Amino acid sequence: MPVASPARPDIPLLKGPCTAGACITEIAMLDLNSRRWESLSAAGGNSRLVPQLLARLRERPTPEDWGEVMEQIGHQGTCYSSAYAAVPHLLELAKVQSKLADPWFYASLGSIAEPAEQTEEVPEDVRAEFEAAMAEAAALALDAVLKQTYGVEDFVYLLQGAAALYHRRGPGIWLSGLIQNNFEAYCPSCDSYLSLKVEENRIDVIAEDERCRPLSASTQVVARSIPDTVWDLRNQPEDDFSWLCALCLRTEQKKVLTWISYLYGKAHCPTCHATFALMSQIENESGME
Ligand SMILES: [Zn+2]
Repeated sequence: MPVASPARPDIPLLKGPCTAGACITEIAMLDLNSRRWESLSAAGGNSRLVPQLLARLRERPTPEDWGEVMEQIGHQGTCYSSAYAAVPHLLELAKVQSKLADPWFYASLGSIAEPAEQTEEVPEDVRAEFEAAMAEAAALALDAVLKQTYGVEDFVYLLQGAAALYHRRGPGIWLSGLIQNNFEAYCPSCDSYLSLKVEENRIDVIAEDERCRPLSASTQVVARSIPDTVWDLRNQPEDDFSWLCALCLRTEQKKVLTWISYLYGKAHCPTCHATFALMSQIENESGME
């Protein structure tokens, strides 16, 4: 493992070969040997581990080290500040290691772009390179959505990652609930705790107690009608629902499209019979105020 030299100043490496005049516009990635890493945070508390893992991924990439570095920079919805220095390295590694079609890669970067828990601000010294890498990752995620073919599960994770990278916070955090079947919301009228059941072709709502015991019969969500929006990269729909529908229509992901029409549909509270927009409640009641 490379060990940080204590006397080394934080002079970042320049990307790629430096020819006369070309370096001026290059943005620098944080050197893996820089002591700057030690003042950044990581999930396990040891931020030196992040550049060490990055160095290992350059030499001998393994799925375990990829998983570990992603855990260290973002864990259970919290983003750690080492992410801001690590992402440019990870994007470069993904390019040479053929990961640019990998849904998991974009889902992980998405949780850096839109963490459930807001943590530290991006430090100024790594901001330019981080933001450039995230913007490039957003474009690459959308490219994967449009040009690759995925099964339902992979497509949902990829779509969540792409949404988050485009700062569409609601779908960027919650879409994977369609696969994990773990949506919850509170009725805006009577405050009943509601659990959602994602079925093949619909979504049901049921009131439950804190031990997940049913307190009501279930009611069916009424789907929102799907707009016939044609996907246009340069003129993307503004609202999340149309954006998601346009991508599902373009890629012929019919099952995901159906689910999304229910997720953004109208729910009827099984306790008080109030009607409300389901996705708004999922977003509102889950730490997203
Ligand atoms: Zn209610």
